[in-house]
Amino acid sequence: MVHYTALIAALAALPSALAQISDDFEGGWDQSKWTTYAPDCNQGGSISLDTSTAHSGRNSMRVNGAGGYCGHIFFGTSAVPSGDIYVRAWIKASKAFTASHVTFITMPDSTLGTNKHLRIGGQSNILMYNRESDDATLPDLSPQGIAASSPLPAGDFQCFEYHLGTDGTIETWLNGNAISGLRAGPSANNPYGSQWERGSYKQRISAVYFGWESYGGDTNTFWYDDVAVGSTRVGCGSGSTNPPPAAPRDLP
Ligand code: CA
Repeated sequence: MVHYTALIAALAALPSALAQISDDFEGGWDQSKWTTYAPDCNQGGSISLDTSTAHSGRNSMRVNGAGGYCGHIFFGTSAVPSGDIYVRAWIKASKAFTASHVTFITMPDSTLGTNKHLRIGGQSNILMYNRESDDATLPDLSPQGIAASSPLPAGDFQCFEYHLGTDGTIETWLNGNAISGLRAGPSANNPYGSQWERGSYKQRISAVYFGWESYGGDTNTFWYDDVAVGSTRVGCGSGSTNPPPAAPRDLP
């Protein structure tokens, strides 16, 4: 019985230890698993399950992103690990980023303050991180910093991955390739991250939300598929993120 009790204890600890949540959306949009998020206001943006385009199978999540801050809308989860956090999403944008600042992933970050977010988006035509509290960017938006990041190609699904460590580490990959300008933390060696690392910033997020937020007039349509949030890197791998039925998934 001792072994049995130990096993039960180990299984009970498993969800919080792994905190793996993933979805290919072939079973539809589980609105208790993926909740809608639009802090402060919600005017114009919308989210739906789309059966006309997908990275895996037939279904993906579609975000119609409107212009202006209140046109924002996101879906996501607070089931994030307490330690290292790895996020993988296959993302399709209908339009490339412009010079204007936009966000497609937003994360409440207690380091930044109440209702302040660590944001991943676009500005100066490239992928970038932004802190809502002080508008610091990663990379610095100098010509060299911009060149150290990458655009997000539009019109087809791209594999976007990032890692947030408790020591302030940020790593980012597009289609499996590390983006040097989108690194931060003790071992980043990123010459374009000085603005970001000032004050020894260490993010501490409580949720991950996928969608669209625009601070000017930019609108876009984004699709998200094969989303995974967990404590280890899953990579771009095969299309489906659903584990086999016997896997210990969604334990109580
Ligand atoms: Ca799918």
